[in-house]
Amino acid sequence: MGDMFRPLNSKVKSSPKREAVISKYSELQQIPSDINRTLTSPSAPFYLALLGEPRMDKRYSNFPNVVTNPALLEMIKTDTVGPFNATGLKPAVDSLKQVMQEVTKTYPDLVARLNNNGMLAVRYINGTKTLSNHSWGGAIDLGVDRIEDKKQDDKILHGLAIIIPIFNKHGWYSGAGYKPKKDKSTGKLKSNEDSMHFEVSKEKILGWATLGLLGLDAQKVATKNETNKRLAGQTKKSASKNPEPRSLPANTTLKRSLPKRIDAPCTGWFGRRAACITKATTGWTKSWFR
Ligand SMILES: [Zn+2]
Repeated sequence: MGDMFRPLNSKVKSSPKREAVISKYSELQQIPSDINRTLTSPSAPFYLALLGEPRMDKRYSNFPNVVTNPALLEMIKTDTVGPFNATGLKPAVDSLKQVMQEVTKTYPDLVARLNNNGMLAVRYINGTKTLSNHSWGGAIDLGVDRIEDKKQDDKILHGLAIIIPIFNKHGWYSGAGYKPKKDKSTGKLKSNEDSMHFEVSKEKILGWATLGLLGLDAQKVATKNETNKRLAGQTKKSASKNPEPRSLPANTTLKRSLPKRIDAPCTGWFGRRAACITKATTGWTKSWFR
């Protein structure tokens, strides 16, 4: 019965031992819609800007290599996350632990069937010259019943499909949501899904970086990044010549009006309640809205 569930070209094809542990969790199914919602997949340039080159010699290939950047090595740890050990970015390993605790609670008979197919590995994404997010230890590949999910077949192992919401809740992006890419040779769109792959979302990493969990350098970059985003948003607003901030909810009433005399235009918005930050000659002024 296992044959129909086993992905083609799978490494486990010839292993009789693995055949014995096939369960409903290693059945293939359609990729669920409505996944990853507000989460974004972090790009290699994003990681490079935040954590630097994984290797001092910048020698990369399709073959997995080790991290040699000492600052990045400081951020890496190995720990047991429940059903297996994992080596990766410290906060990512901690977060995985929480994910696996929740998987244990929700699917107690699944968790022991999950296996780690690799977390930290410095290498290019297959067929590209782009570093994979595994290179910084921010992604993990998971197998079910020792079966590896085949990429780009628009199918997913059931055991992986049902834990996507848990990963999403903890700020992890599922590779099952990768959008199709144009095939260079045919010019046609080709599936790019990678259902065994889970990676810390850009939003989550920025949050960790801002909190200082990824070192001082990353914290500086993340804080600057946030400030730039606010400034960029503000530039758009002033370009629209609309004196009312557009980001405020429709039913917003001004609790306190803006200072009568503003020496400089708003340069940014602070927090959810939106405070206009103006840089007057006297310093920073915040005006709060509700
Ligand atoms: Zn992966």
